Amino acid sequence: MTDYTLDFWMAKAAGLKLRTEHFIDGAYLPSADGRRFPTINPATGETITEVARGGQAEIDRAVASARKAFRSGVWSKMAPRERMAVLEKFAALVEAHTDEFAVLDSLDMGKPVMDMINIDVPGSVMALKFFAETIDKFNGSVTNTAADALHYILRQPLGVVGLIVPWNYPLMMAAWKLGPALAAGNSVVLKPAEQSPLSANLLAELFLEAGGPTGVFNVVHGLGEEAGRALALHMDVDKIAFTGSTEVGKLLMVYAGQSNMKRVSTECGGKTPQIILSDWDDLETAATYAVNGIYGNQGEVCNAGSRILVAREIHDAFVEKFIEIAQASFLPGNPLDPATTMGPLVTAEHQARVLGYVEKGRAEGATLAMGGAAPAALNAGAYVAPTLFTGVTNQMTIAREEIFGPVGAIIPVDGLDNALEIANDSIYGLAASVWTRDLNAAHRFARDMEAGVCWVNCFDHGDMTSIWGGYKQTGNGRDKCFEALSQYTQTKSVWLNLG
Ligand code: NAD
Repeated sequence: MTDYTLDFWMAKAAGLKLRTEHFIDGAYLPSADGRRFPTINPATGETITEVARGGQAEIDRAVASARKAFRSGVWSKMAPRERMAVLEKFAALVEAHTDEFAVLDSLDMGKPVMDMINIDVPGSVMALKFFAETIDKFNGSVTNTAADALHYILRQPLGVVGLIVPWNYPLMMAAWKLGPALAAGNSVVLKPAEQSPLSANLLAELFLEAGGPTGVFNVVHGLGEEAGRALALHMDVDKIAFTGSTEVGKLLMVYAGQSNMKRVSTECGGKTPQIILSDWDDLETAATYAVNGIYGNQGEVCNAGSRILVAREIHDAFVEKFIEIAQASFLPGNPLDPATTMGPLVTAEHQARVLGYVEKGRAEGATLAMGGAAPAALNAGAYVAPTLFTGVTNQMTIAREEIFGPVGAIIPVDGLDNALEIANDSIYGLAASVWTRDLNAAHRFARDMEAGVCWVNCFDHGDMTSIWGGYKQTGNGRDKCFEALSQYTQTKSVWLNLG
């Protein structure tokens, strides 16, 4: 067991090898025009390094490499258990590089390094292992026909898949998509977020080290409107698997329509309600989960439980408990310090955006009950203290728009029906939770909640068998779970005339 200390992580950070070019066809490559963009440590405001800024030329090369590998069959037609062995080794290598991944993403986007150790890296390894295990268990089928015919349905990979991922869980969001895309036999081009480019190349290198063939896993860095757009408009890409904002998810569907009608799967924004009904007697537990649900990962979570719907009868006691627990458990600090539970937000621009929402909350009449500002002692970084508004109505901007920061809104409710009405009054539908001892209320919540992920008497629980994806404008994608695999395959009907 490694003894994680601040000194340990500082030494790791100082000795890091930074891989800053594109990874195309098994080799590192700068942009054809030499352009680069800075990636900044949001805890200090300092530039870590400059990364190759890709555009059409790099996307063309990466897609051509992926297509060549796909057509050759070197991966797409590899015997299932051989492909499984490569992916299992890939997962083991990612695990063996846990500390390096942890420090790369922590420096790049600001999350506490121990969150990487406890959540992101194990979650990524688990995803790769899970999808490796599915490879020889996911079949086509033979259908019933008259005796003079044989009909079977082949399940085949799509071809070249573009993976466009966000900055809030750089490694894990990539792994959730790489797992099923590669398991199904596709070739991929990964476009990491420009705010967190540093860990993607290590992943691609490890895939090669695990025995993955050249050209199957390419990485192109760059800005969304340049590299991302070129990938999404490409005529030889069969699918875009996207996690990010609803705004960009909609653009990707337009790009598909403007190009080759490629498939687009989207995992987008959320405005998750956490409902606490009056019969729930253990406020300590519910408040602890609610606090973690909104402040974990600085609130930069698609399912951040930002709307906290509390039964009027227990409202005051709950708010008091919530604030007490939040102040004791989420202290902003240096992300490399193992004691830190909350890092800075991803960029200074995002910090300003989140503080703008705090201003809006005040202006629209909500009561600021906690936080609401950047902690003065940490002014070099993009920090925002854990913030809570009470007296919020569901019509206020802070209850409607995704803030993607540590800002919770408490909305008083009167019973389950009222809670569901408010909870469902949102364009998003990723996740929701309810706290109740009433079995009927729990099942009614699960049935009527317009969300892809529902929790009863917990928050954020799950494993690889539980699906991840939303209803409404959260998008149509499903990550994790067996079902995810089908989104990276297509079916073919084969009819043989035996007559
Ligand atoms: P974003 O939409 O700004 O960017 C996501 C990715 O899209 C980045 O790689 C970016 O470069 C790229 N991109 C941006 N513009 C593009 C364009 N015009 N064409 C092609 N690609 C483009 O999102 P973000 O700020 O990185 O991440 C935050 C968002 O991600 C939040 O809305 C959050 O809810 C969402 N998210 C959702 C899930 C989920 O599972 N539902 C998980 C994590 C994050």
